[in-house]
Amino acid sequence: MVRGHTVDFSGLLAGGRRSIEVADETPVEGFEGFRFDRPADVRLELRYAEGWLEARGTVVAHAVAECDVCLDPVAFDVGVDVDERFDPCAGREADPFGEGNVIVGGRIDIADLARQVVLSALPMGVRCEQHSGEKG
Ligand SMILES: [Zn+2]
Repeated sequence: MVRGHTVDFSGLLAGGRRSIEVADETPVEGFEGFRFDRPADVRLELRYAEGWLEARGTVVAHAVAECDVCLDPVAFDVGVDVDERFDPCAGREADPFGEGNVIVGGRIDIADLARQVVLSALPMGVRCEQHSGEKG
């Protein structure tokens, strides 16, 4: 598993840069009944304000899951607006078991952030076009 999708935000904290634009494609591991054949499209703007690292933008993942009724594969996009704040001084060093922590030593893990926001936005059930109008 390549973990190369991190962005160094130290320039923001030092005041040298006002914002950092992030445009990346990050792989998302399968989760329960969902799989992701293509990387997610990540578009973020990072800012540092009042002691917080802010990440705003969108993540669009391309998911495939089985229809709850007929088990046919259904492909759909999961688009998520991101508006998150992080403590830039926190990190996995301080709390190595902190699941939600995407800050590591002055870098933000874009792939981990994208994965978390996508998984939080997955639908409870998936229906193909034929069965989308039915109740079950
Ligand atoms: Zn179906």
